[in-house]
Amino acid sequence: MARSLFTLDVDAVRHNVRTLRDVLGEAELWAVVKADGYGHGAADVARAALDAGATTLCVATLDEAKALRRAHGHARIIVMGPTGPGEVAGAKRARVELTVATDAPIPDSVPVHLKLDTGMGRWGLSELPSPDRNIVGMMSHLASADVDSGFTREQIRRFLDATAAYPDITRHLANSAAALRYPAARLDAARCGIALYGISPFGGDPAADDLRPALRWESEVAQVRRLLLGDSTGYGRRFVAERPTWIGLVPVGYADGFRRDMTGTDVLVGGDRCRVVGTVSMDAVAVELPGELAVGTPVTLLGDGILAEEHARIADTIAYEIVCGLNTRAPRARRDVIGV
Ligand SMILES: *Cc1c(COP(=O)(O)O)cnc(C)c1O
Repeated sequence: MARSLFTLDVDAVRHNVRTLRDVLGEAELWAVVKADGYGHGAADVARAALDAGATTLCVATLDEAKALRRAHGHARIIVMGPTGPGEVAGAKRARVELTVATDAPIPDSVPVHLKLDTGMGRWGLSELPSPDRNIVGMMSHLASADVDSGFTREQIRRFLDATAAYPDITRHLANSAAALRYPAARLDAARCGIALYGISPFGGDPAADDLRPALRWESEVAQVRRLLLGDSTGYGRRFVAERPTWIGLVPVGYADGFRRDMTGTDVLVGGDRCRVVGTVSMDAVAVELPGELAVGTPVTLLGDGILAEEHARIADTIAYEIVCGLNTRAPRARRDVIGV
């Protein structure tokens, strides 16, 4: 058993792709695999997504696109984030499409998507220039498809108005939340990230939208201690035993992506839910055990019903940030893929 083992279930990714494709109907599913596939492993997720019918891969940076190109020689790849004039030649060599979201000149040697700001107030043009030949897509990004239907409908309306004159250009607007909840946003293609990984864009139970979590995170109990009344564990003596208490030390911490603000969340120890107590250290978390357990008892930090959404709620953040913050690579962790 590794001290920190991440296992990607590509069957689950394929299942989530099928769920999204059923919802999307005629619209294409584009798989968003930026930030190393939200911490899940971009190349493996991309392969599973393409296998199951996603038609395009979307990333944030040209370097991410180049790495994917090495793994996927033929896939259509779009860089959604900003790029500079110095990156156009590299994009052309890697056969990658770029996104233009500012008034800077539009590169003419690569296919380009124009990004319109319809209310996100971040990247995006305030008005669409008339499209040249190499404009292959028009897009916008929704600010609150997970929470605010009024504003989402307004953004959809603005996008439809702005693009109505160009029926031959591919229009794409929806993220995962919109793909699942707003038929009017589906258009020609939906750019789905979080739902591919089986994580709910709404922060609730992914099963409600027939999504299956694709990542497991496992470790083991490395030490077992019995605290007596008044004994504490960890920095700052944040947990003090109010009765004799068995504590298991798990050798992962915030350097592995188990954030300091995840104290109080649950993990599975030997299959039972146990609470993380005390201060999370760089390389250790303490778990309150139901009794004396053996060193080496398996610990599941994600998977088997332990959801990234739960950890996010405890940490007062979103599940996206939990999974993107995982340290899944050697020398701290091992990665495995199942369902191939
Ligand atoms: C990250 C991103 C997406 C995917 O969003 P999810 O909520 O993960 O589905 C879609 N479009 C753009 C422009 C993005 O940056």
